[in-house]
Formats: sequence, structure tokens, C-alpha cells
Amino acid sequence: MNYVSTRDSKVKISSAQAIVRGLSADGGLFMPESIPELSASELEAMTDMDYRQRAKLVLSKFLTDYTDAELESCVCGAYTARKFGGDAPAPVKKLDDKNYVLELWHGPTCAFKDMALQIMPRLLTTAVKKGSSDKTIVILVATSGDTGKAALEGFCDVEGTKILVFYPKSGVSEVQKKQMTSQQGKNTGVMGVDGNFDDCQSGVKRIFGDSEVTARLEKGGYVFSSANSINWGRLVPQVVYYFSAYADLVGSGDIKIGDKLDFIVPTGNFGDILAGYIAKKMGLPAGKLVCASNKNNVLTDFIETGVYDKNRDFFTTISPSMDILISSNLERLLYIMSGYDDKKVSGYMQSLADEGKYSVDSEILKKIQSEFLAGFANEQQTVAAIGDAYARYNYVIDPHTAVGYRVAMNYHSDNKKVILSTASPYKFPKSVIEGIGGNTDVDNEFELFDILNEKTGVAVPASLARLKNAVSRFNDSCEKEQMPQKVYEFLGL
Ligand SMILES: *Cc1c(COP(=O)(O)O)cnc(C)c1O
Repeated sequence: MNYVSTRDSKVKISSAQAIVRGLSADGGLFMPESIPELSASELEAMTDMDYRQRAKLVLSKFLTDYTDAELESCVCGAYTARKFGGDAPAPVKKLDDKNYVLELWHGPTCAFKDMALQIMPRLLTTAVKKGSSDKTIVILVATSGDTGKAALEGFCDVEGTKILVFYPKSGVSEVQKKQMTSQQGKNTGVMGVDGNFDDCQSGVKRIFGDSEVTARLEKGGYVFSSANSINWGRLVPQVVYYFSAYADLVGSGDIKIGDKLDFIVPTGNFGDILAGYIAKKMGLPAGKLVCASNKNNVLTDFIETGVYDKNRDFFTTISPSMDILISSNLERLLYIMSGYDDKKVSGYMQSLADEGKYSVDSEILKKIQSEFLAGFANEQQTVAAIGDAYARYNYVIDPHTAVGYRVAMNYHSDNKKVILSTASPYKFPKSVIEGIGGNTDVDNEFELFDILNEKTGVAVPASLARLKNAVSRFNDSCEKEQMPQKVYEFLGL
């Protein structure tokens, strides 16, 4: 199966190359030429598989130039019981007969990014070996908080790679910051940026597109790649857990095979929910895909009106990993919905770059609306949702999941609903305690772990408990204009 650029369908490369390159030179994202199908019997067979087998099956449909042994090695190395706290990396919890939660935060960094970033470095290094390149891969990451740590953890001491993470200096929580700045590993670097996530993301994209920078790297024996969700190697592992949740619910007798499930997805860069749409295109019996945004509700407006307009105030919210005004993966949806029309997609993206907005034609809008619903929660509603989930179901959710929960509880469907839970409540303890009622008047976020634990009885994840006494290794920050310079310094160029 070939991969093409969303901005130039003539660019055709293998899946391994797509994962190594990350982003196409024309600025487009790589997409498979067509979406493969999973047969009804394969779907049924999944009910008896463990997560690793499910992952291997889904990945084999997309990564056709990887051998069976390579995929086996990647999935088995990634989804271990040690890293994911048991044999169910993505368990489904039942709230009541209609509502379920898919918990995606049992990995090493307690956010759903681990689901992809534990396997993506393996897919990447396998791809590099195939191409027999001797260059060191440089991973540049822009993070709104969770990707950075998950990528650092995934690439830590992976041979043949170096990773540098840029995060918005004042845009992440204390826990998130400490997770990153205390990162171990010989090949890791972390840099704060004076700006928000979009500044970090634009900065990284600019570096990728700067021929002067890439030439200098190449001379030094380096080549760039990206671990952001613009990389296909990030996206494809996320398709797996939609199937896995479905198979689990068939297995438990909660649904019959063929029944439709709605998925409600707390959304920022549109990666997670796009993976759900791809699962549906492959044959997963999904009903509505519900895009849940926080106060930065550019996607809600887009799905409702067809106008994507980032010319608006940017808010720093209690769900920081969704504080995004440029949702990169939407480009992939536009590509599919326009019938793989690279010219049209290029036009939209040019207009986004020039004017900060674009509007899709009514045919595309109709198609989008037939698959997606959208809603958002403001700050107050998010906190209230945390309280509501706790009061009603004795279930503790983080603020990102709470955005999904609020949106889920506010629309009617005949289908059962699965809310994607994207972070452990312990990653954002302050808002969680505010939601369920309790004292948050402490000196630092880490004291909140004990308060939350005493109140709810939910265990503190070991990787977070350790942070309290961890030493920060990386305390530097820079202006966004200095990002290329920081890359040179990191690489010793
Ligand atoms: C990244 C993230 C999201 C948003 O996911 P996208 O793929 O960017 O839409 C939601 N919640 C949490 C906790 C995250 O880390």
C-alpha cells in the first residue's frame, strides 16, 4: 500500500518511508492511498484476541511493507504488562447500561499518548533499518503537555535517535512540566518556549521546512523526523483501541456484533478522533463520532458551520492538552472527505496560512456532519462534569475526559456511548479535587496526590508519585525565534 501527500497525490511512498519522513516536503500529511477494510469475520475474531494481537491485525492492514515478524516484535515490545500495568492496556469501564469509558492512560506517562508513542519509535527504527540509512534520526516534538513526555519516554535511549521537546513555558501543568524536565536518557532534551502550543508547533513545522536547517543537519549525519500526530506512525496505533473497545464490549455481552457504538473524543489536534473515523471506514460499526472541545472550540464551530477560523482569542484552560487552534490532523479528514482532492486541500491550507481561515464547500460539510457531531465544555462545565461523574458513578475523571463526559451527557443517541478517557486524574489533580470538592490550597501540585488519594481511594500511579522528589535536568527556555538555534546546540552543530 502506498502513501500519498494530502497536498500532492503524485508523491507516493511506502509506509516505512512515510513514518521516517513524518511530514511531506510540500507541507502535506501522509495518508494511505485508500483505507483498507477489516472483514466481519476478522472483527469477530478480535473478541478472542489480546490487545497485542488486535494491534498486529490492524497495523498489518496499513503497514504492508513491514514483515509479520517485524510487526510482532513492535507490538510485543510496546504493549507489555509492565508498561501498561497489566494485560489490558486499554480497558473499558462501565458507567451504566448506556455509557462506557475507554481508559487510555495506563501507560508509563499516564496519558493516552502512550498508546501510540510506546510503539511508534519501534515502527520508526524498524523503518530506518529497512532503508539501511546510517543517519541519526532527530525527533523534534511540539507539545501541549502530554505528547512531550510520552515521546521522551518512548524514545529514551532508543539507539540511532535523539529527541528534543519544545513546550509552552507557561502552558503546561506543574506535573506535566516536572515529568518532562526530569526525563532521563542520554539522547533526550527539553526546552520551554515563550509562547503557546501553536507557536511551538509552527516553530517545529518551520524548522522541518527550512532547507538551510535540513542541509546543515544532513552534513552532520542527522535527519529529521516527527513524533507529533502529524506522523502516520502516531495515528495508526490509535485506530487499534477503537476496535479493541468494540471487541471487549462484544466479549462481555454488552453489545452484539453489528451493534453501533458512538465514540465521544476529547479533541485537540484531531488525531485521536480521526483514528476513530478511520476505524469506522475500515468497517468498525461506529455510530456518531463526537468531537468534544474545551473553550478553544474552533472545531465545534467548524463542524457546525463549515468555517474554520482560528482568528479568535486563545484560552489557557484546565484541559491544556486540548488548547489548540490549529488542528493539524483535520487536513487528513478534508483529504478523505474531498475525495482525495489534493488541490482543494492545498487551497484550504493556503487560506489558513494567509488569512487564518478557510471554509469548505457545502457538499464536504454535509459529509462531515453525517459522520461527526461536535460540542464543547467551558471551564465551569468541565469542573462540574468531574463532580457529576464522581457523584453519579463514583468514578474519577481528569479535566480532558470531563470535557468528553459533559458533551456525551448532553446529546441523545440510540447507540451506546463510549467516552475516551485520555489522562489519569492524577495528571491534573487540582481541577479534579475542585470538581469533587476538597481542599486545593497547598504549596505544590504534588501534595494534591495525597489529598485526592485519601478522598477517592484511587491509587496514585507510581510514575507520578516518584516525581515529587525527582530532580529537574532541563531548566532552559527560549523565544520562539530561537528554536532553530536550540536544535543546533542540542545536536552540537
Ligand atoms: C493530546 C490529548 C488530547 C487531544 O488529542 P488529539 O489527538 O490532539 O485530538 C486529549 N486529552 C489528552 C489528555 C491529551 O493528552
